[in-house]
Amino acid sequence: MRPAGRADTDSLYFTYPHFDPPADRSKLSAPVPVAIVGAGPVGLTAALALAREGVPSVLLDAKATFNDGSRAICVARQSYHILDRLGAVAPFLEKSLGWTTGRSFYRGRQILEFRMPDSPREKFRPMYNIEQQYIEQFLWDAVAREPLIDARWQSRVTGLEDLADGVSLTVEDPFGSYHLKADWLLAADGARSTIRGLRGLRLKGENFEGRYVIADVQMAHDYPTIRRALFDPDCRRGGTILVHRQPDNIWRIDYQLRDGEDEKEAVREETVRASVAAVLDEIGYSGPWELEWWSVYSANTLALDDYRDGRVFFIGDSAHIVPIFGVRGLNNGLADAHNIAWKLARVLQGKAGEALLDSYTPERRGATLDVFTNASRSARFMTPPTAGWQLMRDAALNLALSHPFAGALANPRQMTPYTYADSPIVAGDDPEFDGGPSPGAALPEARAGDGFLSDLLGPGFTLITFGSDLAATLEDLDITHVDLQPGSEAAEVLAAKPTTAYLVRPDLHIAARWYDARPEGIRQALTHSLAGGAE
Ligand SMILES: Cc1cc2nc3c(=O)[nH]c(=O)nc-3n(C[C@H](O)[C@H](O)[C@H](O)COP(=O)(O)OP(=O)(O)OC[C@H]3O[C@@H](n4cnc5c(N)ncnc54)[C@H](O)[C@@H]3O)c2cc1C
Repeated sequence: MRPAGRADTDSLYFTYPHFDPPADRSKLSAPVPVAIVGAGPVGLTAALALAREGVPSVLLDAKATFNDGSRAICVARQSYHILDRLGAVAPFLEKSLGWTTGRSFYRGRQILEFRMPDSPREKFRPMYNIEQQYIEQFLWDAVAREPLIDARWQSRVTGLEDLADGVSLTVEDPFGSYHLKADWLLAADGARSTIRGLRGLRLKGENFEGRYVIADVQMAHDYPTIRRALFDPDCRRGGTILVHRQPDNIWRIDYQLRDGEDEKEAVREETVRASVAAVLDEIGYSGPWELEWWSVYSANTLALDDYRDGRVFFIGDSAHIVPIFGVRGLNNGLADAHNIAWKLARVLQGKAGEALLDSYTPERRGATLDVFTNASRSARFMTPPTAGWQLMRDAALNLALSHPFAGALANPRQMTPYTYADSPIVAGDDPEFDGGPSPGAALPEARAGDGFLSDLLGPGFTLITFGSDLAATLEDLDITHVDLQPGSEAAEVLAAKPTTAYLVRPDLHIAARWYDARPEGIRQALTHSLAGGAE
């Protein structure tokens, strides 16, 4: 909701573009390898990731502009790696505010200052704050430059039919309705997914009790980019408040509603203004401020049982909804898009069998369930669901006032990429290793030459070696070879000796590793991955 007198897209800091429906009607029904429904951040990312693999797509969105209102602000390091792979990270780095530190307060006193893992060997900071409007804008700028993506705005998908070798979509735009045949469909149409509905599928899971009002305000507050959590503050006894800085002097304020607090009353503009003023007073800001947007949310952990339904793959919020203070909805969705894109591309290009696609659900649903575990823990701490949880939470916070170790309980679990250890396409680990990342984990970063290890990886699979001549015998394979110095920073991070090798997938996760690598093992692992673990 915006203040009285301002339209939905009448923002204090962002100019929403307007997109027309497709003007050239001649080729609208031409069949495509991949159709993507939804040009939110996840659909845009999927289209870019497919284009990087050389796969054309049609991207359809019902709206005439980007999503409005307050949505994602926290983007994690691994998402920046994905954006980097897609050649889209530069404007994000320029606009966003990187951060490493959080502070928690209980009844006005600081009980914890935590730092997220960071070091000079990392190319990106652990977290960045940037409004979702910019996320969509910068992704769109990259999409608009990409000739392999046919983006169609004001184009709503209203029907879906299975064909023997694909699907047929019914698309409606202001000029009429047409059918579009696609070999494969990515449903990136958000939490209220039309495609999910058309397939008769339901998200399953839990709804949490707590309700939060989320308000964005603009003010020249000089506090650094440090996430603040206020437990049981004076202005909201028994409640929890989160405060985040964003670019353009925009601040995100999330405050919990009390049990029994009337939601209708809570979201009235005057009530929101009074509540925000009280929070600003609590954090010691007394200057002028303007209200940008507000809404009310509660936490859900909901997901589809299977992210694949025939030739349809669900990515992003259409497949899963996670509590917003877990800051993982969008981050998780970008990883979905990156994961399915390289697999689909290889199947379409005849480099892999369709069985590879069956690894999408276990990998990405596994990641979602892991997010649920962490997010549920945070949700219970932020908004205790029962009197018992409340008692325990408050006891921990009370203890933290005098015993710093107890403050650690108020430390939200840091967001780290999920390890696909149980995936059918990831090899078992080599027991010879003592340390380093195991198969399925995201490749850790290290400095290499003037840049970083991640800069050296190829667009497809990459074999990393440490001074061995292994690659000479593997020249016929469609992989990039990166040879690093034994004893280098990367060798140390990867616990490697000169005969060690790592096989890295296009999405930066490790497919297999060998302490003493042999060419046959590498060939087998690549075949195993591309065959979906079937051979
Ligand atoms: C207040 C708030 C704060 C959040 N904070 C964070 C955060 O800090 N970090 C984080 O990671 N996540 C956060 N999230 C979650 C994040 O915003 C979502 O996970 C993300 O927007 C999901 O992207 P998506 O592309 O899957 O779906 P959406 O962004 O919902 O996009 C779906 C698109 O599909 C289109 N569409 C729908 N139906 C059709 C149809 N039938 N035909 C054509 N097009 C259609 C819609 O127009 C829309 O553009 C937050 C969410 C909220 C609400």
